[in-house]
Amino acid sequence: MYPPKFGYIRVTSLEEAVKVLESDENAKILAGGQSLMPMLKLRLIRPSYLVDINRVPNLSYISIEGDKIRIGALVRHHQVEINRDLWKIYPALPETAIQIGDPQIRNLGTMAGSLAHADPAADWPATLIALRASVRILSPSGIREVPVEDFITGPFTTALGRGEVISEIVIPRLSGTVKSSYVKLERKAGDFAVVGVAVMLRLSPDGSVEDASIGITAAGPKPFRAREAEKALIGRKLTDDVIEDAAERAMKESSPISDIRGSAEYKRAMVKVMTRRAIKNALSR
Ligand SMILES: Cc1cc2nc3c(=O)[nH]c(=O)nc-3n(C[C@H](O)[C@H](O)[C@H](O)COP(=O)(O)OP(=O)(O)OC[C@H]3O[C@@H](n4cnc5c(N)ncnc54)[C@H](O)[C@@H]3O)c2cc1C
Repeated sequence: MYPPKFGYIRVTSLEEAVKVLESDENAKILAGGQSLMPMLKLRLIRPSYLVDINRVPNLSYISIEGDKIRIGALVRHHQVEINRDLWKIYPALPETAIQIGDPQIRNLGTMAGSLAHADPAADWPATLIALRASVRILSPSGIREVPVEDFITGPFTTALGRGEVISEIVIPRLSGTVKSSYVKLERKAGDFAVVGVAVMLRLSPDGSVEDASIGITAAGPKPFRAREAEKALIGRKLTDDVIEDAAERAMKESSPISDIRGSAEYKRAMVKVMTRRAIKNALSR
């Protein structure tokens, strides 16, 4: 309940945050605080300084221009949840936001913070992997961009190096008929996922699948793309048999652990069920 002592620095630019993080490896960014503060209260981390970026101007943007959607580092889950354009372009995005935690958490928690925290049961990574998003990173030596799939390297571990800060998430906007969905199995509203599945499908005019990607939550040490399942869809029309084959393959690609949310066997079976539902849900739009 009581955090350990820490210093507090409020920065007014991300460049300033990079400087502080570079000079002190025990300093940590504070964004929504919805993962950081619980960890501090349990004394699981002991940072020297919290570098508060909440007063950095112009970081709360959702910009949709040309073939890119850009989401600033201070965009809260709630902002995504209520964005009407995103509901039209990629319903999987607001659909993910709406299933995270509860309203209080969604008012503060950020997409960037969720990626940096890299909880294997977090919802954003699977959806962003399915939408082939990248993380834009500000480093002491400049800017680099890393696909979300490579950014999360393991449980609670990312590609972020010393002095590096996420500045935005970039989501490519595919042309043509694109459908998407994120479905989540949870024990109760507000809980982390037992498993979750995000699907993105691009359909040709005859209804067959031109391109597909599938991201999976909580069924391995990190969120992953179910590539074998994707292969089962590409070039095919989505009959029940084709969907069943993809769902079966997604299950085989998963490697969940047994924990309070269920046995590994149960979670694997649920990957199959949720993959089937995600594909059908995406198609129904
Ligand atoms: C009760 C509860 C239920 C929850 N349920 C869910 C759920 O169902 N699904 C889900 O996905 N999540 C859930 N969460 C987590 C929540 O979504 C967090 O908001 C999110 O994981 C972290 O975002 P944040 O902005 O709060 O980050 P913070 O807590 O401020 O920071 C988290 C980590 O990211 C780092 N960080 C933050 N921003 C940056 C940046 N721009 N660059 C570099 N590093 C950065 C911080 O230093 C810290 O290490 C839940 C949390 C709680 C407390």
